[in-house]
Amino acid sequence: MFDLFKIGIGPSSSHSVGPMRAAEMFLQSLADSDQIRDVQRVQVDLYGSLALTGIGHATDIAVLMGLQGEVPDQIEPETVAEKLKVIREQHQLLFAGQRNIPFTEKEDLLFHRKTFQAGHPNTLKFSAFASPDDSQPLLEETYFSIGGGFVVREGASGQGIAHPMSAVPFPFDSAAELLRLAEEQGCGISQIALENEKAFRSEADIRDGLTKIWDTMQQCVERGSQNEGILPGGLNVRRRAPSLYRTLCSRPEANMRDPLNILDWVDLYAIAVNEENAAGGRVVTAPTNGAAGIIPAVLCYFDRFCPESTPEKIQQFLLTAAAIGSLYKKNASISGAEVGCQGEVGVACSMAAGALTEVRGGTPRQVEEAAEIGMEHNLGLTCDPIKGLVQVPCIERNAMGAVKAINACRLALRGDGSHFVSLDRVIRVMKRTGADMSSRYKETSRGGLAVNISEC
Ligand code: SF4
Repeated sequence: MFDLFKIGIGPSSSHSVGPMRAAEMFLQSLADSDQIRDVQRVQVDLYGSLALTGIGHATDIAVLMGLQGEVPDQIEPETVAEKLKVIREQHQLLFAGQRNIPFTEKEDLLFHRKTFQAGHPNTLKFSAFASPDDSQPLLEETYFSIGGGFVVREGASGQGIAHPMSAVPFPFDSAAELLRLAEEQGCGISQIALENEKAFRSEADIRDGLTKIWDTMQQCVERGSQNEGILPGGLNVRRRAPSLYRTLCSRPEANMRDPLNILDWVDLYAIAVNEENAAGGRVVTAPTNGAAGIIPAVLCYFDRFCPESTPEKIQQFLLTAAAIGSLYKKNASISGAEVGCQGEVGVACSMAAGALTEVRGGTPRQVEEAAEIGMEHNLGLTCDPIKGLVQVPCIERNAMGAVKAINACRLALRGDGSHFVSLDRVIRVMKRTGADMSSRYKETSRGGLAVNISEC
């Protein structure tokens, strides 16, 4: 649950949250090997997708902040610009938040745009030196940012998950197993997820954590609905959530004439979150930053427009969504650089569809069906962000994903849970489709909208 929903900052979980966490892990390795005090220079090498879309996705900024000892869930987004200015003007890095060492981006932060490393398309290497002139590093480590803010050190096993499935009372590797467990126990998917989570922390802590996630999501919607202006990065995309919000508030009677105006609100929630994300604001990775708007948008829809909503059901929603997301994480990928946008917006849509179905009274089979529909109609979705920024198509795509999730839930609730394609099968197809996809469509900005649409 708390591996998948992480409080962090925008604009990208794989390209900014992950690299910042990798820097944190590298500092920890230096501290563990008692070398951190000896470091006089650091060099960072970015490869593959991190190099190709790293500037647009703020990977450079994330790495610099991480080397200064900042961590994604605690860094204050509004302090980043000033810290960056100091590094760039003074060519000094406040290494590990302790002391200044020389740092010149042009020489010490290198983008290898033509090199894809074997381990993962999102690879970064950190090297620490005892002297600015040394060529032999004190320590060198390579990390893979595998999507959703998860990071794996080269040579380590696992998928960067802090809490292994082997330690839980109801382990499951597939949707079929999850469904069987829920039916055997006579409970919902959320209850299985909650019992598993209790293997790692008390129920009170889980509930506090869930409340914090939901509060952070709502604050993000509120900020995004108020913050005006042009998004950073040079594409000159104007934020549209504030004007949409004003329009919706100024004509409440119009909502009564057209029932589909509820969809305008869903669009608003998703766009507000993703504009905040694009601006480097505080968001909940769900399960990635690029797709961070879908789950809050569907939850806000549930909370504000569905009569069943209660604080308890909001928590059930998040638990169910996490259980579904864990299947994608385990059996496919949640990385746009690995499988395209089907791994980001597609997965978030699937999670939200299944979760909404549970809290609206669906059976576990209907939950599984809704999650399957949510992915089936996102298969093949490419990642082709213009100028490497998490803006176009990403922001609007979250609104579309949220609406699609609501419809997937409605389709499932109108049936009896029997359906043609299972969730496990669609997850396998999604993985294969991602493997077949040209790298041009996997977060490299070398294909699709990124090369066929003028940037201004
Ligand atoms: S297109 Fe999709 S996968 Fe690519 S950056 Fe945007 S949200 Fe992420």
